[in-house]
Amino acid sequence: MKTLNDFNFDKKKALIRVDFNVPLNDDFEVTDATRILSAKPTIIKILEDGGSCILMSHLGRPKGVQEEFSLKHIVSKVEDVLGVSIKFAEDCVGPIAEEAAQNLKPGEILLLENLRFHEEEKRGDKDFAEGLSKLGDIYVNDAFGTAHRAHASTTIIAQFFSGSKCFGNLLAQEIESIKKVMETGQKPVLAILGGAKVSSKITIIENILDKVDHLIIGGGMTFTFVKAQGGSIGDSICEDDKMDLALDILKQAKQKNVQIHLPVDVLAANAFSNDAETQVMDVTKIPDGWQGLDAGPKSKENFHNVVMQCKTILWNGPLGVFEMENFASGTIALGDSIAEATENGAFSLVGGGDSVAAVKQFGFENKVSYVSTGGGAMLESLEGKILPGIAAILE
Ligand code: AMP
Repeated sequence: MKTLNDFNFDKKKALIRVDFNVPLNDDFEVTDATRILSAKPTIIKILEDGGSCILMSHLGRPKGVQEEFSLKHIVSKVEDVLGVSIKFAEDCVGPIAEEAAQNLKPGEILLLENLRFHEEEKRGDKDFAEGLSKLGDIYVNDAFGTAHRAHASTTIIAQFFSGSKCFGNLLAQEIESIKKVMETGQKPVLAILGGAKVSSKITIIENILDKVDHLIIGGGMTFTFVKAQGGSIGDSICEDDKMDLALDILKQAKQKNVQIHLPVDVLAANAFSNDAETQVMDVTKIPDGWQGLDAGPKSKENFHNVVMQCKTILWNGPLGVFEMENFASGTIALGDSIAEATENGAFSLVGGGDSVAAVKQFGFENKVSYVSTGGGAMLESLEGKILPGIAAILE
């Protein structure tokens, strides 16, 4: 696996695929610069070597060239975060980009205009990728958030850099973190899967049953498992057509010696609303008119005990409807337990879908070992897929 450390960037132009798909407000100001900050170590290392950086990214989902999706809006934020001034090219490919790249001197940074202003980017067009490849000497992929897409700048381009392509620091860190959980993790290994639906997590569950010792299943998924085993779940969210699958997962887990932990009690509500009436109930005895929206106190305690036993922890998906204050406490309690286990030496990885939002909202970001920057890319990695953007560097 080639990383930045395998190259000396002195007088070289590094063409770096970053993920600067940052949120903007109505005044086109960046409201969360986390993604820019995440790319900083890679950029700084290349500049310190004596090289220059050509940054390429997409922003949003433009249809052709649309001013509101221009990366020029983020130039001053990138300068703030990196602490140096940067140049901007009004196209990412062709004469404008080529001239700007040619004029770039060691120590300088050039940001290219939105890749998705050209529809060839998402199509993975080979000629477009070749056009991009002319801009730099070494290709660096540091965009985990788009590594699951076979787009021109994330995957197809790599074939034009045989022997001179590598992972940036961020992408290398993401790969290492997943490996630490899925391959080399210290036992006991625990996966916690929450969120809304079994159907969106089924491939992950099947893949990780071979890799974990404990599996906590929480959130809305709980009720498909409970109903499948004959429990009464009232009006709780349930996928009736996935009940056989749930029973099969329980059977497979037994065969593979994986201990499954489901909530035993829930905080139920008489409506899907923060203002609803609530009551703690046995998860198998929820009457009609009530729905489980968060983990109950006994479940929180059980989950705490499991988390504290484990040395490697993967967390994907909230334990309740955390967006509503009154149903966030199961997710917060779990975050507290994982933070405590991490402080005691466990390795904890949080990632995929909504988990990162929950972790940030409740301030656990710096209390876990690693928070993944890729939602979909993380989910696909956990499903056991080799992401095209990663495969293209390894080829
Ligand atoms: P996912 O994207 O699959 O990780 O699902 C996240 C969503 O699951 C969040 O928006 C939560 O509100 C939702 N969720 C968690 N627990 C429940 C529950 N008991 N009932 C309904 N939705 C839930």
